[in-house]
Amino acid sequence: MPSKPAETISGTRRIAVIPGDGIGVEVTREALKVLKAAASGGPSKLEFTEFDWGAERYLRDGTTLPEGAIQMLRRDFDAILFGAIGDPRVPANKHAADILLGMRTRLDLYVNLRPVELFDHALTPLRGRGTTEVNFVVLRENTEGLYAGVGGQFQHGTPNEVALQVDVNTRKGVERIIRYAFEYASHHNLGRVCMSDKSNALTYGHEIWQRVFSEVKTEYPGIESRHLYIDTLVMEIVRDPGQFRVIVTCNLFGDILSDLGAQLAGGLGLAPSGNIHPGRISLFEPVHGSAPDIAGKNIANPVGAVLASALMLDHLGLSPQAGMLRRAVRASVSARQTTQDIGGSLGTREAGDWLAKNVTKQLA
Ligand code: ATP
Repeated sequence: MPSKPAETISGTRRIAVIPGDGIGVEVTREALKVLKAAASGGPSKLEFTEFDWGAERYLRDGTTLPEGAIQMLRRDFDAILFGAIGDPRVPANKHAADILLGMRTRLDLYVNLRPVELFDHALTPLRGRGTTEVNFVVLRENTEGLYAGVGGQFQHGTPNEVALQVDVNTRKGVERIIRYAFEYASHHNLGRVCMSDKSNALTYGHEIWQRVFSEVKTEYPGIESRHLYIDTLVMEIVRDPGQFRVIVTCNLFGDILSDLGAQLAGGLGLAPSGNIHPGRISLFEPVHGSAPDIAGKNIANPVGAVLASALMLDHLGLSPQAGMLRRAVRASVSARQTTQDIGGSLGTREAGDWLAKNVTKQLA
């Protein structure tokens, strides 16, 4: 859903580009090529400003998220295109927590949108499944749950040690993500929402999900709603993925489910995500990390970043251009013009060139 309403289809969209570390830099470069090709044919302009926030900068001068960065992003930009962050030279990846988690929490990006879309039946490990069956989105609550950072350790390192991690579920947090799921299903004509929790065991923290889901679903009588416990849901996704269109769940389960989804649709190299606050500046990134093992070798798949760019274009009200990016990816997969991870022989740069050329051809 274009969650940032576009006043007009024309006009300039201002995009902050943060390539980050490792393969983040390589795949973002290719995504920019493809985005520029798509924008060259339309009435709306994309304006890119690049920021060097990442390990190099941190190691040079200790900066993670610069002073005033959040206010500047809110004031001067419509969206953020992010690569990946993480570098083995930085102890505990301190810069990563400050930069990425800092933006997620301080921009209140409460929706983590992870589409699972199979572009070619040959890419799924599920026997006999095709593109229409592996096609759903996971909407993960992105600001609370077990990842809220609430907890503590007592008598650390002793035989009596206690470690607590608190599962934070607020009325506001649960309601807004569930409501977003119904809005998303309704906007995209998807017809079905499945909410997943573990309320039979987590009788306090997840009971609120049950209650809020029952309330909110009555506002959307045209959408079929269903609840599955997380353990049943993962079995069902593998057994018969075609029954799902929109899945909404908490932070932890969403994290795990979306990696399962990424594998069902061809692997980490292809998976995009959006960190969204509807109507406000939001951040789009490939699901994969900085992958230091393959960085600098020109072998990383740029498709995750290109599909993340398509989500960004949707968010900016530029769905026709987003469609071009997706068609280019589909064409590259069926023509086997891809990187090695999904069976092709192109390098990162060559795969990006192919996609950009395909977009230009679509415009001609
Ligand atoms: P994080 O800890 O942030 O998840 P990571 O760097 O440990 O990141 P990922 O980047 O998520 O791990 O990737 C795990 C592995 O998957 C990589 O080591 C790499 O081999 C493979 N991989 C990830 N992204 C891509 C890609 N775009 N193209 C090809 N292979 C990839």
